[in-house]
Amino acid sequence: MTKSPDFPPKTLTAGQSSVIYELCGEHTPVMTAVPGENVVFEVLDCFGGLIKTESDLFDSVGWERINPATGPLFIEGAEPGDTLAVEIKDIEVGDYGIMTAVPGMGARGDLVKKPSTMIVPVKNGLVYFGDHLIFEARPMIGVIGTAPATGSVPTGTPGPHGGNMDTRVIVKGSTVYLPVFVRGALLAIGDLHALMGDGEVLMCGVEIPGRVTISTRLLRKKTLPCPVVETGDAYYTVHSAQTLDEAASELVGHSVSLMATCTGRAPEECLALLSIRGNLQISQIVDPLKTVRMEIPKSILGSLL
Ligand code: CA
Ligand code: CA
Repeated sequence: MTKSPDFPPKTLTAGQSSVIYELCGEHTPVMTAVPGENVVFEVLDCFGGLIKTESDLFDSVGWERINPATGPLFIEGAEPGDTLAVEIKDIEVGDYGIMTAVPGMGARGDLVKKPSTMIVPVKNGLVYFGDHLIFEARPMIGVIGTAPATGSVPTGTPGPHGGNMDTRVIVKGSTVYLPVFVRGALLAIGDLHALMGDGEVLMCGVEIPGRVTISTRLLRKKTLPCPVVETGDAYYTVHSAQTLDEAASELVGHSVSLMATCTGRAPEECLALLSIRGNLQISQIVDPLKTVRMEIPKSILGSLL
């Protein structure tokens, strides 16, 4: 059963009972949606809205309240072994974002001499950094994931279930393909950035609250080797591991496997194609696992599944 996309969307508010700090199959869903139905996720910033001024520092939040995600949303009919396609129909962000610097954290925490917080105004699609620099906003989703097969994964950690992938191609118009490990998939979304660069080297983007409108589709009894993001002209395979080297090597394996399934080509040929037309990119290097992605043009992958 599907509902018309024009049906008024349900809204999942970021209330106390609908914000989670780990993805877990045991969680009670806060809402149910059928595939095709529009759902709005209201999302807190990664500090849970607790940093409001430049005198509120990262340490005032506490690790247990970092990276809240809104959900989980139960997708009717989703069964283990399916793939959940999440179409990002819109991302609206608030009118200011926050960046925090913390000594010892991020890619080069040794260069951060004292903790600080910066308020970054975001207006009419523009990001105002400091007094003089203005950039075009590019709202993206840092955390989007389903529940893992067993146990729980903190919302700050990426993995096969998606989660904190901090992958900046997850924008309005993209579709994110995630595995369904438990009945209903249990989708959650959080950690919006008005702007973020590959690597996220300080440890944050322009962290901002907002509203994400999605609709879902189920690919029944289809599994992908890893999360995949589809944009207008490419698919991006996404993978995370302890080190960038491991992440990259494993991602190439996943990408070959996906290409071989989709095109029927031999693995060696897929590798050759990836070697000349695939683009290996860094998503982030500051989370508990590092995340990389492979941009695979649609011209060499064809259609997914
Ligand atoms: Ca993040
Ligand atoms: Ca973030």
